[in-house]
Amino acid sequence: MKVAIQGQAADVKVINELLSPWDIQFTKSDEAEVVIVYKEKPVKHRKTIVIPSESADFIASVRDLRLKVSRKIGGEISVVAGSQTVLTIRPRIRYCYERVVKSTSNNSLPTAIEVDKDLICLTVDVAEEYKKIFREALDAELSPLYRLLTGLPVSYTLVPKQFRNLVIRAHRNREKLTLYDKLPLDALRFVLVRSIEKLSEKRLDRKRQNNKECTCLITHDVETCNGLRRSRVLKKLEEKYDVPSSWYIPAKHYKLDLEIIQTLSNHGEVGAHGNRHDGKLPELSRQKMINELCEARQTLEKIVGGTVKGFRAPLLQCNAKLIRALSEVGYVYDASMPTWEPNHPSVMKPYGIGTVNLMWIGRILEVPLTLPQDHQMLHVLGVTPRQTVKTWLEMMEVVKDIEGICSILVHPDYELADSQNLNVYEQLLNQIASDNQSWITTPSQIIDV
Ligand SMILES: [Zn+2]
Repeated sequence: MKVAIQGQAADVKVINELLSPWDIQFTKSDEAEVVIVYKEKPVKHRKTIVIPSESADFIASVRDLRLKVSRKIGGEISVVAGSQTVLTIRPRIRYCYERVVKSTSNNSLPTAIEVDKDLICLTVDVAEEYKKIFREALDAELSPLYRLLTGLPVSYTLVPKQFRNLVIRAHRNREKLTLYDKLPLDALRFVLVRSIEKLSEKRLDRKRQNNKECTCLITHDVETCNGLRRSRVLKKLEEKYDVPSSWYIPAKHYKLDLEIIQTLSNHGEVGAHGNRHDGKLPELSRQKMINELCEARQTLEKIVGGTVKGFRAPLLQCNAKLIRALSEVGYVYDASMPTWEPNHPSVMKPYGIGTVNLMWIGRILEVPLTLPQDHQMLHVLGVTPRQTVKTWLEMMEVVKDIEGICSILVHPDYELADSQNLNVYEQLLNQIASDNQSWITTPSQIIDV
C-alpha cells in the first residue's frame, strides 16, 4: 500500500509513527493510492483522508465542500480494531459535520464520515491527540506524595513496605481490568487505518516480527538480593519451556552475585535497572543522570561479558529527559513505559502510554510493558497470583487480536516466585509456549532481526 502524507514535517512524523506497525510504503502524492492531508488543502482527484484541525486550510476546505463543521468537547468514540476488539477513545475535541453524509462506522459517534467515494473526513484530530497522550505520559505531573518520598535524603525503600503498599492502595481507583478502553494511542492508529482501508478497498497488512502473528516478552526486574537468589527458580522453569527472558538489575542497590547474573543472561538478556532503586533517577540533573546510566551499564557489561542494550527505569518512572539521556549514553531500547497501570507511583493515578506497539522515540526503541506488572496486580489491586495469571491470559487475547506485543513483568521478589505459586507461573509459561503463532523473545532480539 502506498500512502502519502501532506502536512508540516513535524506532523508528518507523528502520522508516520501512528501508521508504523503496518506495512505501508510512504510516497509522494502523485504515486500514492491514498493521500492523508493535515492542515493543508486537499489535492483534487485523489483518494483523500482529511484530518480535522483548527487550521485555516481545513476550515476553507470544508467550506469548499459545503460542509458545516462544528466542534464538541469530548464524547467517547469507538473504532473496530480486531476481529473481536473494539477500542474506545475520548478525544478532547470531536469534529461534527452537518450535511447528509455517510458515516464509515456503525457507532452513534463516528470516527470518520464519507463525503463521497474519494473523500473521508475524520472526526478526531489524530495528530493533536497523539501529541497530547505523549506529553501526558512523558511529562506527567508528579504527585505531591511522590515528591515527598523521593525528596527524602534516604531511599523510599527505607519506608516500610507495608506502609508503602497501604498508601498506594489508599490511592487506587477501582478500574475494570480490560484493555479495550486503555489503548487511546492505538485507537488513533485504527481510526486512520480503517479509513485507509475503506478508501482503498484493501486490507492493510501488519509488519510481522520473525514471521509470527504475535511477539511475547517475559521480563523480570530484580529489586533485592533475595530476589536475585530466587530468580534461579524462575529461570529454571523458563528453561524447561525453552522460553528466553530479560532481567533488569540495579547495579549498586545490593551485592551482585556474578554467577547468577551470568546464568540469567544465557538464552536471555540482562538489562540495566539504574544504579539504586530509590525513585530518584528521573529527577536527577542531566549530567548526574548520564553518569548513573553509564555506570549501571558498564557494571553489568563487565559481568555478562557483552553489550547491555536495554534499560528499564526503577518503578517504571520514565520521562522525556531520561529517554534523551539513554540515547546519549548509547542504550538501544527502553522498557520503562507501561501501557497502563491502575496506580502509578509517580502520579498516584492510572497512567500509561496507551499502546501495545513498539515505537521509536528518536533513536530509542520504546518497548512498552503491555500487561499490568505483578506489583500492580498483587499489591495495588490486591488480586491473587492465580487471578493475576488468568487476567494476563485474557488480556493477551486482546493484544493478539490487535496484533500488538505481549510484554509481562514478574518480579522474583514477589509472590509469583513463592514456592507455593510456582505452579501458577509454570501454567503461564506453558500457555505462552504452546502458542506456535507467538514468537517468545527478548527486546534485543527484536532489534537484531
Ligand atoms: Zn524495579
